[in-house]
Amino acid sequence: MAAPESVQSESAESVPTTIESLNPATGEVLGSVPIHSAEEVQAKVARARAAAAEWRQLTFAERQSELDAYRRALAARADEFADLIYRENGKPRLDALIEVTMALEHLAYAARNAERVLAPRRVKPGILANFRAHVKYHPMGVIGVIGPWNYPIYTPIGSIGYAMAAGNGVVFKPSELTPLVGQMLAEVAATSMALPDLLQVVTGAGSTGAALCASGVDKIAFTGSAATGRRVMAAAAQTLTPVLMELGGKDAMVVAADADVERAAHSAVFGSLTNAGQTCISIERVYVDASIYDRFIERVVDVARNIRVGGDGESDLGAMTRPEQVAQVRAQVRDAVAKGARVLVGGPDAVDGNFLSPTVLVDVTDDMLLMQEETFGPVLPIIRVTDAAEGIARANASPFGLGSAVFGRHGVRGMADAMRAGMTTINSVLAYSAVPTLPFGGVGESGFGRIHGDEGLREFSRVQSVLEERMPLPKALDVMRFPPPPGTYGRLRALIAQMYGGGAVDRAGSLLGRLRLRRRS
Ligand code: NDP
Repeated sequence: MAAPESVQSESAESVPTTIESLNPATGEVLGSVPIHSAEEVQAKVARARAAAAEWRQLTFAERQSELDAYRRALAARADEFADLIYRENGKPRLDALIEVTMALEHLAYAARNAERVLAPRRVKPGILANFRAHVKYHPMGVIGVIGPWNYPIYTPIGSIGYAMAAGNGVVFKPSELTPLVGQMLAEVAATSMALPDLLQVVTGAGSTGAALCASGVDKIAFTGSAATGRRVMAAAAQTLTPVLMELGGKDAMVVAADADVERAAHSAVFGSLTNAGQTCISIERVYVDASIYDRFIERVVDVARNIRVGGDGESDLGAMTRPEQVAQVRAQVRDAVAKGARVLVGGPDAVDGNFLSPTVLVDVTDDMLLMQEETFGPVLPIIRVTDAAEGIARANASPFGLGSAVFGRHGVRGMADAMRAGMTTINSVLAYSAVPTLPFGGVGESGFGRIHGDEGLREFSRVQSVLEERMPLPKALDVMRFPPPPGTYGRLRALIAQMYGGGAVDRAGSLLGRLRLRRRS
């Protein structure tokens, strides 16, 4: 999806070799980065692989100390990162610093917990009592991380940090819209860690991402749209490279009759509008119980009207990062209005260059584009429902299933359980993304696999089951040789009756039989 104007051409015929990074608020050129060719991507993968071969030899404690050094170096440059994210992505400086904080939190968790999660684990050998069984987690090798532009440090570190903590090298392809943040992440790694080649960055547009998919990496961790995700999976299928898919969402919030209306209204506005709505887990549909609907709307409108939009870095919302996004969001709002939606705040014309003001819509119906497609902009559609049960049913009637939120008091945990989504907050929004113990990922068209948490460390590991004979069985009982010992069939039949039921013990309906079975499991 290279924006043609962002590509430098040396002559009409020449193939562009660099991409310019632009400030979306001002159009200012911030820098330029190379478009890495397939050969250059291969070379970077080879460098990461050589570094990874040394990295995997280190102990968990040694790797932790290296990753802690990386974390400290990133933290020391937090202001620089926040400023660069502000200029390259367009979001306010505070939002950028929050993103940096969350990235550091994840990096710290991954480094500190890798040994606990990935150390060899002894497990019961089942009926093969003369064996010793272990589950082992090995590094996979080199992980290709492909990231989006909306959270250019938080999102990639959610894969990079966990992949490195699990003993892998990484080749990171940042979005063409935020390549400078990507370069800085790799530069800090190179100068703070003993293995400077462990984290490589490749830059360019979609073709560079495609080259990374075909480069022979051991896994691809992709974060982006479902459309690109399908292309990445198709490419990975050629080499049977495993993939992790963190895709888009159409996250719903359900507000029950007994919810704290004030709290729910603020959360709906924040959850849908933060980062100008350019968040994979932003709230994109709010279903509100009819009995509190009017009060909820009143509060939402009041809060949304007072949101400050601007490019000074201190406003509540900044510029839209992708200029094309402005037209897409306006088209969704126009479609909704044409089909009967009422605008309470903003509207399709609440736009100033790359800045979109918040839009709040009611009388929204399921046939509208903004109820079907992901909305990557500051738009909040609110739907009146007869009760929370109807809200949950309509929230779940979506091919996406990334995050979700429920608000209420009595029975609110049951509401959370009923949400078909990878993550759910109760009486809050989005906050799970900052909790490193919680796995992050979606269902349906929102993707599969998990980053963050213990699952995020295992996601970047090759699992090996190891079974070791502790003592040989006497020849008369050893069934793993030809010919089997005489009487094996009968002994096995007796064992089945004893262990799994159907025999005399079971026929007696004995508690002992059930206890034995429970003990085995
Ligand atoms: P895109 O799908 O357009 O791009 C994602 C990344 O893939 C970019 O680095 C892009 O490069 C690269 N890419 C493009 N074409 C290919 C290809 N053929 N092969 C390999 N890589 C390719 O997404 P956006 O950058 O627009 O990000 C927004 C999307 O990301 C939204 O749908 C959002 O919901 C989702 N997202 C999901 C998250 C999650 O954790 N589930 C978190 C954050 C965002 P380039 O930009 O250079 O073209």
